[in-house]
Amino acid sequence: MNHPIRFVLCETSHPGNIGAAARAIKTMGFSDLTLVNPKEFPSREADVRASGAVDVLQQAKVVATLGEAIADSGLVVGASARRRKHHCPELNPRECAGRTLTMAASKEVAIVFGTERVGLSNEQMDQCNALVYIPANPDYSSLNLASAVQLIAYELRFAQDLFEPLQEPEFPPASGRDMELFYEHLERVMFASGFLKPNNPRHTMRKLRRLFNRAEPDEHELNILRGLLASVETGDTDD
Ligand code: SAH
Repeated sequence: MNHPIRFVLCETSHPGNIGAAARAIKTMGFSDLTLVNPKEFPSREADVRASGAVDVLQQAKVVATLGEAIADSGLVVGASARRRKHHCPELNPRECAGRTLTMAASKEVAIVFGTERVGLSNEQMDQCNALVYIPANPDYSSLNLASAVQLIAYELRFAQDLFEPLQEPEFPPASGRDMELFYEHLERVMFASGFLKPNNPRHTMRKLRRLFNRAEPDEHELNILRGLLASVETGDTDD
């Protein structure tokens, strides 16, 4: 494992949860924490709850959007207390650990956690390649945010000892930033061609995002798709 595994907390309301999450990841040997638009940070309560992991808080990256947090990630896994199989493929924490460690051999990975009250939004899930669900009581499946972070981090720690990296892929996986640029390009071309109807563009885009996020294209494959879109835009062909 040579690329960071980044724990991303989205719009966390309670600074105590940020501190407890920092402690959770440090105990498992991780240190990369990104906070997307936290309600209150830095905060004394976060420091208190972090205990001996205040260094993780001090190094935490604070960004305005999830897009910024995952810009360099080759795999984005959203942690959700609600199963949303229709949205993207579901992993259990053990499978999540395996996928994460495999990817971290070639590119950074982001594991994304939602807000205490509503979890991850559909727009945030649209930026994930997969979802991780911690098996829980179906009638009460919502763990405390920091407890969820702890469990996912523990499974990663446990898997690290067993993990043997696979062969490096031929091309690095596309990053979150590359994927966003591709989606912007795709939407532009589909509007220009008249395929995307202005009455419900988001529905079609969401379906297409799910398709391409599931495929996890590498940089080379994404370049082919971008080239295809560019040729549709200009009308150029090679022959
Ligand atoms: N009420 C929210 C849950 C908030 S819990 C909802 O219904 O979605 C805060 C965050 O902790 C969630 O967004 C998720 O990232 C994580 N989490 C809590 N329970 C989880 C579970 N069973 N599996 C995976 N992640 C979980």
